[in-house]
Amino acid sequence: MQLVCLDLEGVLVPEIWIEFADRTGIPELRRTTRDEPDYDKLMTGRLGLLRQHKLGLPDIQKVISEMGPMAGAKDFLDDLRTRFQVIILSDTFYEFAMPLMAQLGMPTLFCHKLETDASGFVVNYHLRMPNQKKESVRRFKELNFKVIAAGDSYNDTAMLGEAHAGVLFHPPENVIREFPQFPVTMNYAELRNEILKASQNI
Ligand SMILES: [Mg+2]
Repeated sequence: MQLVCLDLEGVLVPEIWIEFADRTGIPELRRTTRDEPDYDKLMTGRLGLLRQHKLGLPDIQKVISEMGPMAGAKDFLDDLRTRFQVIILSDTFYEFAMPLMAQLGMPTLFCHKLETDASGFVVNYHLRMPNQKKESVRRFKELNFKVIAAGDSYNDTAMLGEAHAGVLFHPPENVIREFPQFPVTMNYAELRNEILKASQNI
């Protein structure tokens, strides 16, 4: 049995924090895992900025409800799900992702949780476990799945390395340079082809 694990942001939906930064006019919130490989440093910085600008979860969710998946994402995913079991492994949070998951036909999503106080301010974040993308792939392998993984940034590279086959999708230049072992795809047709090719070889 073959399983495909996909990253979410930058693969199926836009980067939520970048969209939020643009709409709120807070450029410091544009930093993502593409720029900062240390996830805790990135998240602690984000929560500090939200507090500083007095923005709570309802403000973020309002922006997200106005966003949609990337063009072609739903068709790509629907096609993939007819061929493979697909699980989305993301470092986003359920509180952010659900409006977008609904637009993608509610695929399975493993991600993290936010903690808010009574007035809706985000006070903390809870990772389900450290390195969940890589650890999930490792556990799927123990369940005798052959795993193909695709993602776009630093926080995907351990997952891509753990999988039987890893594919980069529309990655930034620095990730392409630092991880030359993974094939690079730039659109859904290429990603689909690379996944099908990998499924023949693993
Ligand atoms: Mg991503």
